[in-house]
Amino acid sequence: MQGRILNLFGRDVRALSDIFFPRQCSVCGTFLDYDQKQICGECLADMPLTYSWDYPDNFVERRIIDKGVYVEAAASLFFYRYEGFSQVIRTFKYQGNTALWRFLSAQLGDVLARCPRFSGIEAVVPVPLHPLKRYRRGFNQAEIIAAEVAKAFGVKSYPHLVRKRRYTKTQTAFGTGERTSNVRGSFKVTARMAVRLKRQGICRVLLVDDVLTTGATVAAAAEPLVKEGFKVSVATLASVEQL
Ligand SMILES: [Zn+2]
Repeated sequence: MQGRILNLFGRDVRALSDIFFPRQCSVCGTFLDYDQKQICGECLADMPLTYSWDYPDNFVERRIIDKGVYVEAAASLFFYRYEGFSQVIRTFKYQGNTALWRFLSAQLGDVLARCPRFSGIEAVVPVPLHPLKRYRRGFNQAEIIAAEVAKAFGVKSYPHLVRKRRYTKTQTAFGTGERTSNVRGSFKVTARMAVRLKRQGICRVLLVDDVLTTGATVAAAAEPLVKEGFKVSVATLASVEQL
């Protein structure tokens, strides 16, 4: 009974606060109902999902395996180059709307945790930023995604298992082939941590990033994990459709 009262009270507070501080859909800008979070029902229904998680040898896996790095499974939640949804990514990168990203990351986590191809994931690992870049930005977006995805799998996120050891120029400045050589060898595994995880019997890891373009960055980050003997799968929130 008490829970119900609190629940009703919470709902009323949200409905009231919506009157004074209306919340808008992050994609189309329409005002949200009190029971909607971040994105309205219509935009959620229109979300350009890739369904890549259902298919072996999908475009995400091919982009990574083409770089010579073997991953068990890989998937992205939605396509990036759709008006509205690409806005979602940019808003986060430059304004840090973490609530929206946590919401989308939870969707990614839910989809993957229910997918047999991703069963048995024991740890989630974000693709790291170089410490200088992380300091400048104030956060690493992949860490936020990893934390939510880890929750869906009921496992922990390990932001320090892979480290960026060399500062690389922003990937967008390079062509496809150059991107691979720019990042190759720029990540390393924290040896002590790898040993600790293996002692705990953790072997299957899910490497997580925000946007997949050529796959060069996630392939470069996955490579040292594979060399350490981990079974690696990959998930990104969004994917660029055509290269
Ligand atoms: Zn909307």
